[in-house]
Amino acid sequence: MDEAAAKQVMVLACSGIGKTWGALARETAYELVERVRPGVATTTCLPLLVINDPEAKRLVMEHPVITLDGCPKACARKSVEALGKKVDQPLETIQFYTAHKELKPEGIAQLNEAGLKLARVAADELAATVDRLAAGEQT
Ligand code: SF4
Repeated sequence: MDEAAAKQVMVLACSGIGKTWGALARETAYELVERVRPGVATTTCLPLLVINDPEAKRLVMEHPVITLDGCPKACARKSVEALGKKVDQPLETIQFYTAHKELKPEGIAQLNEAGLKLARVAADELAATVDRLAAGEQT
């Protein structure tokens, strides 16, 4: 991997339609990309991998990858692995709730306030992982 490529880390959230934990995955990815590590954490639409979009595949193959999945079906992780790429940091969003039981996410299209706060907390906690991966280290 060249130096320029090492500066960005792909954060891929599962689609999670109709599921609170999927909504939490999306919100956490947005928090990472837009607030916590803009310019370093980046994302793409997961279905682009499923349809073999060349640019989405290139991004995933050339950068370290964090996946955020809403349930054990692990659609984001498996979509990356289907390309023959190992995910550097696979995560299931319920683990953030397990660590922060006071923040119970609810809602689907729009998370409740506790869910939005949990996404912010999760993204803050993932900042160090993004930094390590961006520096070319393993998690
Ligand atoms: S990992 Fe679970 S919640 Fe996410 S898209 Fe797949 S089935 Fe839906």
